Amino acid sequence: MVKPNAEQMRTLAGFRDIVLQNMHALGIVGIEQRQALLEVPLGVLRSNATQRHGATRWRRLPSGDLELEVVDLHPNLLVNEWADYAHFVLFHEYLHALGYRQHNSAFRSLEALWPDGKGARRGREFTRSRRLARARWMWLCRKCGERYPRQKKGAGRYFCKTCNTALVDEAVQDIQ
Ligand SMILES: [Zn+2]
Ligand SMILES: [Zn+2]
Repeated sequence: MVKPNAEQMRTLAGFRDIVLQNMHALGIVGIEQRQALLEVPLGVLRSNATQRHGATRWRRLPSGDLELEVVDLHPNLLVNEWADYAHFVLFHEYLHALGYRQHNSAFRSLEALWPDGKGARRGREFTRSRRLARARWMWLCRKCGERYPRQKKGAGRYFCKTCNTALVDEAVQDIQ
């Protein structure tokens, strides 16, 4: 976990209020659980994460019990452009925080209650945008023209998801 700065904290608190309001309206949390979630510390992930967009961390007490430590969001989610997806990620993490620790069917049916389906489906788009921002190489498909932004060379070991052709490396000259 990385400690959020004051501005990140303000944004996280704003997201938290919206998410808790929705969870309460959906009947997922009552007053007490809402209060308990309100007290969960919020943090940010390391900014180099690409596939992980949020995390709920627990610490093991000497007694062997688990105690909720922090809920982290990706720092690049803390902007207007990604607010709808950030709300969904925080909702997902709060379900874990409520004790639904596995992505099982109970978890998935609660997760499916989130009212903003469009925001909830932006995970791949966010992964791609983070990969693009960090890319040093494009893995290029010469057959269909698809490009996969990556930090490392593929060295011929990877294949196009669309047409299964071996990908070739192309250096990214200038990043943003
Ligand atoms: Zn999860
Ligand atoms: Zn292809």
